[in-house]
Amino acid sequence: MTAFLLDMDGVLYRGDRVIDGAREFMAAIADRPHAFLTNNSSLTPATFRARLQRLGLLADPRAPLITSAIATAEHLHRAQPGFRYFAVGGHGLHAALNAVGKPSDEQADYVVIGEGDGLDYQSLTRGGNLLLAGARLVATNPDANVDDGSRVLPGGGALAAPFEVMSGQKALVIGKPEPALYEAGMRALGVTPEETIMVGDRPDTDIAGAVCLGMRALLVRTGRFRPGDTYPADLPPPTWDVNDLRDWSLPASQGAPLTTT
Ligand SMILES: [Mg+2]
Repeated sequence: MTAFLLDMDGVLYRGDRVIDGAREFMAAIADRPHAFLTNNSSLTPATFRARLQRLGLLADPRAPLITSAIATAEHLHRAQPGFRYFAVGGHGLHAALNAVGKPSDEQADYVVIGEGDGLDYQSLTRGGNLLLAGARLVATNPDANVDDGSRVLPGGGALAAPFEVMSGQKALVIGKPEPALYEAGMRALGVTPEETIMVGDRPDTDIAGAVCLGMRALLVRTGRFRPGDTYPADLPPPTWDVNDLRDWSLPASQGAPLTTT
């Protein structure tokens, strides 16, 4: 059975606007295994789930929804149960880490950086000192920036950079295109890369990471990457490259065809 991992922003919606064909696509895959993945670590899964529900995009309420904050917490918990951490980022990051680890300003195994409020002179000083004392630097995601309606906000990579410079450490990155977030999605569905199609709007994260793991990848040009843009020559090409979800259907050889009408 073909399973789907779905990026959300730029694939299903932009801001509060549902992207053409997204509701029909979600209805068509409602009975297939699917999970939502996002590099955005500042909000909780409940917040994203409520947005999907409100926009009529939550075809199966049981579908897993995994943020890079959740995948980070899961990864650190598996590596070191009961880990201590110092985190800089939004509510979604703190909530995810607090569920499995212990916050500490004094002694930390990990300094974890994600999107949202919190970076200032004091937090950089605190985190930088913990890193120089031996803590490991972790970034929820490598994004330089993220869209927020009409504005662009700093992404996890931009916020982790000052800590990298201060400590001389390169951050361990959890979100796309690194493997951990995809692996969390596949684990939640109980599927392998060969069974999985990643649907995303960014060649450098969604698509590159999925192809490297051996998944099929569907690029929709409804986000930052637009119809007519040249696909970057240094990135692995997707399996399918379409302007929007209305232009795609699952080949008949890969299970019952999807009907989006
Ligand atoms: Mg996206």
